[in-house]
Amino acid sequence: MQAMLWSPNADGSVTCRLCSHRCRIRKGGKGRCGVRANVRGALMSLANEVVTAVGMDPVEKKPLYHFMPGTKIFSIGSAGCNFSCRFCQNSNISQVPASGMVPGRRTTPEELISLAVTNKAHSLAFTYNEPTVFFELVYETARLAREREMPSVLVTNGFMSSDCLRALSSSITAANVDLKGFTEDFYATYCGARLQPVLDNLKTIKKMGWWLEVTTLVIPGVNDREDELKALAAFIHDELGADTPWHISAFHGAYRMADYPSTPLPTLEHAWRTGREAGLHFVYIGNVQSIVGSTTFCPQCGATVLKREGFAVRVTGALGECPSCGVTLPGIWKR
Ligand code: SF4
Repeated sequence: MQAMLWSPNADGSVTCRLCSHRCRIRKGGKGRCGVRANVRGALMSLANEVVTAVGMDPVEKKPLYHFMPGTKIFSIGSAGCNFSCRFCQNSNISQVPASGMVPGRRTTPEELISLAVTNKAHSLAFTYNEPTVFFELVYETARLAREREMPSVLVTNGFMSSDCLRALSSSITAANVDLKGFTEDFYATYCGARLQPVLDNLKTIKKMGWWLEVTTLVIPGVNDREDELKALAAFIHDELGADTPWHISAFHGAYRMADYPSTPLPTLEHAWRTGREAGLHFVYIGNVQSIVGSTTFCPQCGATVLKREGFAVRVTGALGECPSCGVTLPGIWKR
């Protein structure tokens, strides 16, 4: 299928405008994501209407903690990625093999919506691999979901172009965006990408009004320096707001860092305190058991509002409301 968001060049190459790499692709070539190819002077999507994984997840698994808690989200993944993270947790689907064969099975937006409805999903997530690179499927499926009043969510590295964000602005309700580190050096060395476009997009997403949560995978000795985490937390507080939930996630060895040690709990708890000291109201610890790091506290009086055990949620009082002082917490609480 011919891709969306690209421009032809006089020499037969094409420029893909889907993400911040803006690949210029010569005839017969592919973009960095491995799933967009120049075929006879036109940009084709090789991942369109291809899925590698679909299934029902707890919304907390995305992770989204202030978005319809306790509900099930129909999750859709395709193939390819515009990043090349050494620590990728889903490299079997994100990294297209050298043979160029895109894994997965054919589907349609209509079939995905029908599966979501049959499974009584409350919402849809484009997740598992980077949704930007299967934009055409996201665009059409989210549009159909909106017609059925089913909210759609992106779980993304936040490296899309402003054209891509604009095109999705009215179809997406919420996003969890990875902020993987806070230096250009980290993004270049470990992810094959750049930090600044992610920061710019986070600010744009906030302004567009999507419900936004941010995730950082903390890798010991790589992106856990005190000054880096402080600067990252300050960015969330100052640019996205104190009410933006920040998920600090434990690293476990994967892909090219399979032999690397897991993040110790004290490192995660230290990062949690850094977030709270920066003034963030909602800081969470994921991928590991932590009572304090899985609880939502009222920012006004400190009472416990939501408790989580694994992906199960226990609500105290009315959903999204502090049982002690009655203040309504930021988020999308309706089910
Ligand atoms: S989506 Fe990004 S990485 Fe893929 S071809 Fe387009 S600009 Fe390049």
